[in-house]
Amino acid sequence: MGQYDYLAGLNKNLRQWGRQAQHILFPPRSIATGQHLQGPGQIEPHIWAKLTFAGGPICHCCGQGLDPALHFDLVAEQTCAACMAHRPVFDRARAALIYDDLSRDIILRLKYGGDRSGLNLLARWMIAAAPDMVANSTLIVPIPLHYTRLVSRGFNQSLYLAAAISRLADKPLAAHAVKRLRATPTQAGKSANGRRRNVAGAFGVSRLGRGRLKDARIVLVDDVYTTGATVEAVTRILRQAGADRVDVLTLARVARPVDPTI
Ligand SMILES: [Zn+2]
Repeated sequence: MGQYDYLAGLNKNLRQWGRQAQHILFPPRSIATGQHLQGPGQIEPHIWAKLTFAGGPICHCCGQGLDPALHFDLVAEQTCAACMAHRPVFDRARAALIYDDLSRDIILRLKYGGDRSGLNLLARWMIAAAPDMVANSTLIVPIPLHYTRLVSRGFNQSLYLAAAISRLADKPLAAHAVKRLRATPTQAGKSANGRRRNVAGAFGVSRLGRGRLKDARIVLVDDVYTTGATVEAVTRILRQAGADRVDVLTLARVARPVDPTI
């Protein structure tokens, strides 16, 4: 064994011991409950088992689950009724999880707690939900927050997710290519049309982004897909800036777009 091999082996052992010591001194917290974890992983096994990953037959366009009982002649690239009636402006949307009580807790911890400890795990789930989409992309773009909200919250959870995906997939990140031109009231509690009106004209391309978006194959990253109003508004301005294609990747999505005011 050469001196280099010996030192490399020693270095690897030290790193492993360091990780074990860190695990004992600072046990990681669950990304779902915030509780300290004793075993390996970043989420309690019984909670992980209850998470609903967005799988099964889905709409080729928006990624919504398709009911095999209704779409009995399922074919590849089948689209849902909503996309047939109104084709979204983005190319495709995919999500890792179905939005429910469990995934909501994970998102709230990320969104309001700024808990970054589970980001790599969440980003891996997102990449696994759309490996081709990520592999074929040339740029990762997060949905921006308006600076007033950024100041009050201190971080943008979509940028956290986008940066983790960029790092793991080795794709360039355009963190500030898109900006919010005005602060919009929260989308929560608004109808689909209300959400569309709320974000109309709210986004623009920054000076930084202008050169980078042309001909780019973009993966647009957000935390939750509800009606698609926000990602569609951003897709429009990305297309105006010359993007070749825009795909959407979110951590979670609602199972079925319902009127959120009810
Ligand atoms: Zn669809």
